[in-house]
Amino acid sequence: MEQFILQTLFSRERIAERVRLLAGEISKDFQGGSLLLVGVLKGAFVFVADLIRHLSIPVEVDFIRLASYGDTMESQELRITKDLELPVRGRDVLVVEDIVDTGKTLRYLQDTLKRKGARTVSTCVLVDKRQRRQVEVAIDYVGFVVQEGFIVGYGLDYAESYRHLPDLCVVDRKGASEEFPRRSSGPREKGVGDDRPM
Ligand code: 5GP
Ligand code: MG
Repeated sequence: MEQFILQTLFSRERIAERVRLLAGEISKDFQGGSLLLVGVLKGAFVFVADLIRHLSIPVEVDFIRLASYGDTMESQELRITKDLELPVRGRDVLVVEDIVDTGKTLRYLQDTLKRKGARTVSTCVLVDKRQRRQVEVAIDYVGFVVQEGFIVGYGLDYAESYRHLPDLCVVDRKGASEEFPRRSSGPREKGVGDDRPM
C-alpha cells in the first residue's frame, strides 16, 4: 500500500487572506468593467468559489477542462474535453488556474481564448512553480510561489485524492514507491492539516 505523508505548506487561514487580497487587486484593476472568469477544471474549483465571493465587480463564471495526452513530456498535446459555454468574443477574460508548472496549459488557454476573440486575457493562479517553467507565460495574479514538490489540497488532487483538504499540502514521497499511482486506489489517510475525522 502506498503511504504518503502530507505536509501543510499554506494553511487555510493564509489561503483565505491571499485570496481576499487577490480579489481586491482584480476588482480594482477591472473597476468599471465586468469579467468573464474562466475556471480550469478540476483543480481550480475551490479557488474559483472563494475568489468570486470577494470580487466587487460584475462577473460571469464559466469552466473549461483540458486533457493532455502523449507518451512523453515533449510529445504531450493538449485538448479541450469540456469547452466554454458562454461567448468569449469582446470579453475581458480572467483565467483562473490552480497551479502553473511548465506553463504549457496556461499558454494553450491564453492562445485559445485570444483566438476566440477575447478582448483581453488575464491570468490568476493559486500556485506558481516558477522554476519549472518551460514556456514563457504571463501571469497577472499569483497566490503563492513554490520551488518544488507536488501540491495537493484546496481542490488540487493526487490521482483524484486529497481535493477536499482545506490547506495546501506537499506530498512527501519519502517511503513511497518510485512511481506515483495512476489511480486513486491508495488509502484515505489523514493528511497533516486536515483536522476533520475521516
Ligand atoms: P503545466 O501545463 O503548467 O505544466 O501544468 C499545469 C497542470 O499540471 C496544472 O493545471 C495541474 O493540473 C497539474 N500540476 C502541475 N503541478 C502540480 C502539482 O504540484 N499538484 C497538482 N495537484 N497538480 C499539478
Ligand atoms: Mg490544472
